Amino acid sequence: MALDTMLARLEQGATVTAVTAEETAAVTANPAPALAVTAVTAVTAEKDKGQGVAAEPARRAPTDSERAELLALLAVIYADDTDQDRQEAIEAALSDPDGALLCYRAICLERGRVVAPPAPAPAAAPAPPACRRCRHRATPSRADPGYCDQRTELAPAYGTDHPLHQLPEDGGASCTRFEAWQ
Ligand code: SF4
Repeated sequence: MALDTMLARLEQGATVTAVTAEETAAVTANPAPALAVTAVTAVTAEKDKGQGVAAEPARRAPTDSERAELLALLAVIYADDTDQDRQEAIEAALSDPDGALLCYRAICLERGRVVAPPAPAPAAAPAPPACRRCRHRATPSRADPGYCDQRTELAPAYGTDHPLHQLPEDGGASCTRFEAWQ
């Protein structure tokens, strides 16, 4: 069911009822009359220009926060309806997030129901530098940030022949020897 139809029925206060399979079967049981049919050529958006035929506006997918808000609004508005009705409303709303948000916010407001937009998810903490996650970082005597046991071109940790080396200044961001702890 299209969003327009859903909203029209909600505004009328009617219960939105899905068309059942039996009803569909009854409607389609009668064969269509045989008519002479002229082949119809698809009209492209290009051909519509200047002919007064409005092109269907391009629809966009909802953002994560819009999707969450729509689901919250519909959970309130369709609280007493069937799962199928709610699912149809969700599908229609997600196919037209701009129109659906405008209308369903207004409906909730009209009914005195406040549905707060969901709080944005907290930003994920940045991953620690590569050397911190690398199994080639050695921390003798809990030395921090530690040393590298692989990159012999880096400055030695404690003396010319020391097997450990200073960690790179970029924290291993561009290191090709990185190997994560298993
Ligand atoms: S420099 Fe490279 S190999 Fe050495 S600890 Fe850092 S990421 Fe690992």
